Amino acid sequence: MRLTLLGTQGWIPTGRRETTCLALEDGSSLLLFDAGTGLRRLLEPPGSTMLAAARDVHLFLSHYHLDHVCGLAYLPGIFAGRRLTVHVPEAAVNGIDVEHGLATLIGRPFNPGRWGEQRGMELVTQTLREGVNEVAGHEVRVRRQKHADPTVGYRVDDAFAFITDTVTDPETARFAAGVELLLHEAWIDGAEESDPAKAGLVRTAYAAHTSARQAAALAMQAGVDELYLIHLNPLFDEGYYAQMEQSARALFGGAAVRPDLHARDLAV
Ligand SMILES: [Zn+2]
Ligand SMILES: [Zn+2]
Repeated sequence: MRLTLLGTQGWIPTGRRETTCLALEDGSSLLLFDAGTGLRRLLEPPGSTMLAAARDVHLFLSHYHLDHVCGLAYLPGIFAGRRLTVHVPEAAVNGIDVEHGLATLIGRPFNPGRWGEQRGMELVTQTLREGVNEVAGHEVRVRRQKHADPTVGYRVDDAFAFITDTVTDPETARFAAGVELLLHEAWIDGAEESDPAKAGLVRTAYAAHTSARQAAALAMQAGVDELYLIHLNPLFDEGYYAQMEQSARALFGGAAVRPDLHARDLAV
């Protein structure tokens, strides 16, 4: 299996990074996680090559904030002539039923086509329960997380866990225990905690997000091989991300900030 980062930015896409989207290639299956602007990378190599090789395509959503779902407006362009199965948590998990979430967003006046009636493609919606789900031969675990609005984290087999848009949560270490790769959001470095002038920034960040240092501590507790810091704050620059990587590495040697389109093979 191979995981490719199609978008590693949070909130606002930048010239270098698109908003959240991951692609897992596994034989003839392609599993996508979140539909940020990074979904558009499926229109050109290497994304288009991945898509051309896939017979079975699944898209999993963490939550409905626009930076994670704006790519849903691109579906007919990217998946023309194809079948796409979109997986969302059931209402029992996040309090949002499909009609309220996807159908409100993808429908008039926000989108010309209605959800489920995307021109030139077949769109199937499936709900996921908290705990273990079987999708495309994988064990996909779902766990609710605390954010400004409810989010879920995903764990796919023992290969990787995708944890974005959440405050730091000790339970994440248990959820992700033993996976090869943890992808965890990091909104600030965490060094700001010791700077009284940054108290406002820290308070706002920790109300909904995690620092690089907190993510590194979780990775260590979880005993993962590697940690990628994702959903990077677009109001900071690559120099700041390099500093985040250093801070995380001081706590957990396997921490890294990778560029968009970085690909990693997963042994499991
Ligand atoms: Zn976000
Ligand atoms: Zn969010």
